[in-house]
Amino acid sequence: MTAHPDLWFPSQSVFVDGAWTEAATGEVLPLEDPSTGSEVGEIARGNAEDIDRAVAAAHAALAGPWGRMTAAERGRLLAAMGRLVLDRVDALARLEAADVGKPLKQARADAVALARYLEFYGGAADKVHGETIPYLDGYTVYTLREPHGVTGHIVPWNYPMQIIGRSVGAALAMGNACVLKPAEEACLTALAFAAIADEAGLPKGALNVVPGLGEEAGAALAGHAGIHHVSFTGSVGVGSLVQAAAAKNVVPVTLELGGKSPQVVFEDADLDRALPFLVNAGIQNAGQTCSASSRILVHESVRDAVTDRMAARYRELQVGPAMQDLDIGPLISARQRTIVSGFVDQAADLALAGEGHLTSNAPSGGHYVLPRLYADVPADHVLAQDEIFGPVQVIVPFRDEDEAVAIANGTDYGLVASVWSKDGGRQMRLARKLRAGQVFINNYGAGGGVELPFGGMGRSGHGREKGFEALYGFSSLKTVAAHHG
Ligand code: NAD
Repeated sequence: MTAHPDLWFPSQSVFVDGAWTEAATGEVLPLEDPSTGSEVGEIARGNAEDIDRAVAAAHAALAGPWGRMTAAERGRLLAAMGRLVLDRVDALARLEAADVGKPLKQARADAVALARYLEFYGGAADKVHGETIPYLDGYTVYTLREPHGVTGHIVPWNYPMQIIGRSVGAALAMGNACVLKPAEEACLTALAFAAIADEAGLPKGALNVVPGLGEEAGAALAGHAGIHHVSFTGSVGVGSLVQAAAAKNVVPVTLELGGKSPQVVFEDADLDRALPFLVNAGIQNAGQTCSASSRILVHESVRDAVTDRMAARYRELQVGPAMQDLDIGPLISARQRTIVSGFVDQAADLALAGEGHLTSNAPSGGHYVLPRLYADVPADHVLAQDEIFGPVQVIVPFRDEDEAVAIANGTDYGLVASVWSKDGGRQMRLARKLRAGQVFINNYGAGGGVELPFGGMGRSGHGREKGFEALYGFSSLKTVAAHHG
């Protein structure tokens, strides 16, 4: 096992009440480098006992200096954390690249995005306020925005830094105390984030990080009676378990789940502009992106042009180790590769239009799959319906606008969609008709836009994170009605 060069914090610990300790179990879990398949470290195996301690520390923080801080002071702290993240962008990017397997430039973009979230929510912390409401004679009525209290954050492995930034950043800005359970596959940057918060002077207990298995630490957090709000990002199956666990305590839940997001390309689309968006939105982070655009819907008159141009780009795509910074890295795990390969096996009846290639010196133990583009795929084919979470895109032809909308809305999901057309009326019609939490017109914003509210419809989840909207989600509204005669 080779020690990771970028660890400046005790990576085998839990971070609770401002202190690094070993997990209650005293046990650790192995950490794998997806680019090589070899073990590169260990993380603490936190469990229900650690979650209990973390929740207690968060309650104590709310009763202590953290709970007494003004919104401006909280904002200043978040901004300071953002500056520390920027100082460490390169180290954080290397950690994330090694942990998740994503090419270095994508990991770097994630680190910069984390800093941006902290800047945004730092600046917004003292700009959320209630309102006065005209009421009966002799009354003054106003609303207060208050923190929920202790918020639980369960995050996946695909974009740890970005998801921590958007959920923990917003929750802290509103004055909540947070318990964060990162994914067991990739949690080094969550621990780095705790070290940065500590260095910036965040009061103890305001942020607690407990790595561990989903069914142990994660389940304990979701169902903990001391939690007042749960933010979950991950799969539909686990999201529904988390919602059920939180329901026992009647606790609100934000669910950011999967997607099968379409880009709809009409006959008048600017294909030169569209092409990089069409491909990148499918292969970014090896397709392991909730908002990946895995379906390209094309008007039949431009079907061949779009297919040929995308296929040509696919043939150029190079897959290899994260540190070589190619187009695509490995998948996160052998398990994920098995899932993606299972979908590819079901594509035997489809026309493979384009395929990337593996760089010659890729380590044999890495979890690589080739990016694949399938043409002329029926809208009801399993590859056009299910979230694959790998670098696989399907091209689905349509005849007219109504059919395009029906196909676009014809999955269980509703996370992101885009419309490629120069026709203003069509752009506006589709923006209304498409079932998605975000609709892009002549662009596609997978993962981007700290300022833009984000979240799903249907099985993509409910609740909104990012932008100002997240600040409302991480607070609760109190109405005060005063009778003064
Ligand atoms: P996952 O649901 O397996 O795991 C997500 C988190 O839940 C991890 O921290 C895991 O440890 C934890 N967990 C697992 N079992 C649990 C349980 N029983 N109780 C509580 N927590 C538990 O998801 P994944 O495989 O890590 O991530 C992939 C999925 O996440 C995809 O479906 C993807 O679309 C989705 N995702 C969505 C968004 C979004 O913003 N909408 C962003 C990223 C990923």
